[in-house]
Order: sequence, then structure tokens, then C-alpha cells
Amino acid sequence: MRAILFGPPGAGKGTQAKRLVDLYGIPQLSTGDMLREHVKNQSPLGLKVDAVMKSGGLVSDDIVIQMIEERTQRTDCKNGFLLDGFPRTITQGQALNAMLAAKGQQIDVVVGIDCPDDVVRDRAVFRRSCPQCGAIYHLQSLPPQVSDTCDRCGKIGLIHRPDDTLEAVNKRLNKFHGETAPLTSLYGAILKRVDGTKSPDDVTASIRSILDPLAASSS
Ligand code: AMP
Repeated sequence: MRAILFGPPGAGKGTQAKRLVDLYGIPQLSTGDMLREHVKNQSPLGLKVDAVMKSGGLVSDDIVIQMIEERTQRTDCKNGFLLDGFPRTITQGQALNAMLAAKGQQIDVVVGIDCPDDVVRDRAVFRRSCPQCGAIYHLQSLPPQVSDTCDRCGKIGLIHRPDDTLEAVNKRLNKFHGETAPLTSLYGAILKRVDGTKSPDDVTASIRSILDPLAASSS
């Protein structure tokens, strides 16, 4: 199953993707995570994209398209993948379609996680994540059991992403509405929408009601 999780920043794509990989046995391909890894390692690419990411801007299409092209060729993608944060522009969506078509493949489903801007802003400001295992928390609605400590791996020192400030989130929302939302025109009937304002468990249940039948038919 080749699926895209689509939605504004903070809609819960990352949280949901991490749950879904275990359920369906396909990897999460997050361009945001890949780019953050480059920034953390201060690779040449990381140094190049650091400032634009921190400000909430978009990294150039060529860079992310090449990343996804390479990543989807790895053997763990042979049964499919779950894209999270890619594609984000019409150019990226068209490149993805062409990349898959060249292999006789296609995207099976796009799950749009709907979330209004004011909810997105609240989530970003309160979001914390584990720098070691990537677990995601919200200081009010999904806090870690022990303050500043990851429930999953025990790492002390959760981080607030530099692009989760109000200023950067507003810029990311502008990018989403201006450049990413128009992508829905590429997907027609394979785009299914879920309400991203519900609890993480409820959102997972809604997504499963869409993906379970597809996973069953592709296995
Ligand atoms: P995310 O974790 O998906 O919110 O991504 C964090 C940041 O990485 C974004 O605000 C962009 O700066 C950059 N980024 C991630 N994915 C893409 C993409 N597909 N196209 C352009 N920039 C991206």
C-alpha cells in the first residue's frame, strides 16, 4: 500500500504515521524527519536547509524529490510506504506520480487530516518531541508521564522544534494554504478526509477505517 498522509503542519501526520507503520508494516517516509537529521548532523545539505526550515519556509523541490526518489528504492519500501510531509507542492506531486508511473506503480490513497489554523497554532506552541526516538507530546493534552522525560525511551530533555514558534507556524500555514492545499486537485477520488481535531486514538480509528480494507486487498 502506497499512502500519503496529507494536512497542515501540526495536523497529527507524524503522530499518526508512527502508529500506522507498526500496524501495516510499511515505513514512514517523512521528509521533515530526514531533513532534521541532516541539520542535526550538520551535513552539507543540513547546513544549506537549516535557516529556511527554522523560518518555516519550504526547502527546494529538487532536494526533497531526490530524497524521496532514493528512499523509495530501498528494500523496506517494496510493500509500500506512508508518506508524511511529502509532497508539499504541485511540482513534488507531479514528480512523485511520474516516479511511480515509471515503475508501473501509483499512490493508492491520500488521507487528508483536516485541522483548522487555530488548533494548529495551539498544537505547535505546546508540542514537544523526543530527540532520541521521535515520540511526540502535547504539554496539555498528551503530556509525558514524568516532566520533560520521554515515556517511550526514557530520554530526558524533550525538545520544542525551532519552527514551532508562533511566527514560524504562521509562515508554515501560509505555505500550506498557498502551495500545498492545491495538491488535492491531483488526487480526486483517492483523497479521503478525516477530522484531525479528534483525540489521537479517534483519528487513528478513522484512518484505519480507510486503510484497513486497502491493506487487506494488497496483501
Ligand atoms: P515537517 O516536519 O513535515 O513539518 O517539515 C519541517 C520542515 O521541513 C518544513 O517546514 C520545511 O521547511 C521542510 N520540509 C519538509 N518536507 C518538505 C517538503 N516536502 N518540501 C519542502 N520542504 C519540506
